[in-house]
Amino acid sequence: MQDTSLWFPYAQMKHLEVNYEVETGDGPYIQFTNGMRLLDATCSWWCMIHGYRHPELTQALKDQADKVAHVMLGGLKNAPAVALAKKLVEITPKGLNHVFYSDSGSVGMEVAMKMAVQFWQNQGCTDKYKMASLTKAYHGDTTGCMSVCDPTEGMHSLFSGLLPKHHFAPAPTACFDASAEAVAQDIAQLRQLFEQHHHEIAGFLVEPLLQAAGGLNMYSPIYLQEARKLCDEFEILLIFDEVATGFGRTGKLFAAEHANVCPDIMVLSKGLTGGYIGHAATLANDKVFNGFWSDDKQKAFMHGPTFMGNPIACAVALKSIEIFERENYLGKIEALNQVLKHELLGFEHPAVKDTRVLGATAVIEVHNAESLQGVQQFAVEQGVWLRPFGRFLYTMPPYIITEAELTKITQVMKAWFTR
Ligand SMILES: *Cc1c(COP(=O)(O)O)cnc(C)c1O
Repeated sequence: MQDTSLWFPYAQMKHLEVNYEVETGDGPYIQFTNGMRLLDATCSWWCMIHGYRHPELTQALKDQADKVAHVMLGGLKNAPAVALAKKLVEITPKGLNHVFYSDSGSVGMEVAMKMAVQFWQNQGCTDKYKMASLTKAYHGDTTGCMSVCDPTEGMHSLFSGLLPKHHFAPAPTACFDASAEAVAQDIAQLRQLFEQHHHEIAGFLVEPLLQAAGGLNMYSPIYLQEARKLCDEFEILLIFDEVATGFGRTGKLFAAEHANVCPDIMVLSKGLTGGYIGHAATLANDKVFNGFWSDDKQKAFMHGPTFMGNPIACAVALKSIEIFERENYLGKIEALNQVLKHELLGFEHPAVKDTRVLGATAVIEVHNAESLQGVQQFAVEQGVWLRPFGRFLYTMPPYIITEAELTKITQVMKAWFTR
């Protein structure tokens, strides 16, 4: 009998065999108790951007734990939380001047949705309480987040009795370097949705340029520019979910920069703390913040998770950003991007539908999920940890990986098809 005390995510426990136990992490490698060592192609759901066991991050965590590990943000401030808020305002697109913390990407998105709804309530627009989202979207696993994930690929049908109903436009189809004409059709569909339902839409949620867990769909920055204009025209708050794209994943510090667009609300998590500890930041511009600024206590933003502004998380996040800037991570990401493009773009095989690369993200999309059956075990035997989902075999490596190590990952991805 297997031990079932530990319940694993997204897995049928009856058929799950987890044989490998992680002992330590080391840069881009995971070291197992049985002596095996694997190159991690996914940096633990894309968050360990500095790799594992970075000495400076570990030290920052220890130093802060020696002072105070946690203290409530209710009525009290702590130096790392204050300094990180200042830093995030400084490095995010100009205009996002206010930072609300929470403990995970999903909760950061819940905060964004509540913020958008209460913003309109506070202005007396009581009809605006729904969201607009996109097919292929993924915004998290909590109830509110599930309701704005892709309505067919996500968990809508399973939990439909529980979930509120929102509005969806089709996922953008025009690729990253598409022409404005090619993007026009995508935008026409968004306009149509807004025209029909703007009176009840509080916010439009979008993963800028890279719809990640919903299928690694990469699309044009022009779409974001046009979406910004439409949101202004129809009085809808524009909300960027940069939980996956933030901190370099698309080749700029934030995906918004490719489009030179500033959203009204932006959510960061995953890479925020270099993966060391769960935390999220929901940033708002002055327009949103001022919507809560009042002598009326009822207009205060009604949210406050226990661990928001946790000093350890904030201290590690500050150190992570310092290293990112000091060590020219954007330069490293550009070099990784060249490797990914060279290795994967144009890779052909009858099972392969498409290959896409953006920043430090690359995917081989197959026609049929069955053709990825067994790839994980195959990769483990070659010394690489891959975790495909659905029809997507992808890598989002830590930025400290060497070009040779990344090439090993892409070779294993290709070798699966040509074996
Ligand atoms: C991972 C992810 C989330 C959810 O974050 P959690 O920390 O897992 O709750 C939300 N949005 C996007 C785009 C993500 O990739």
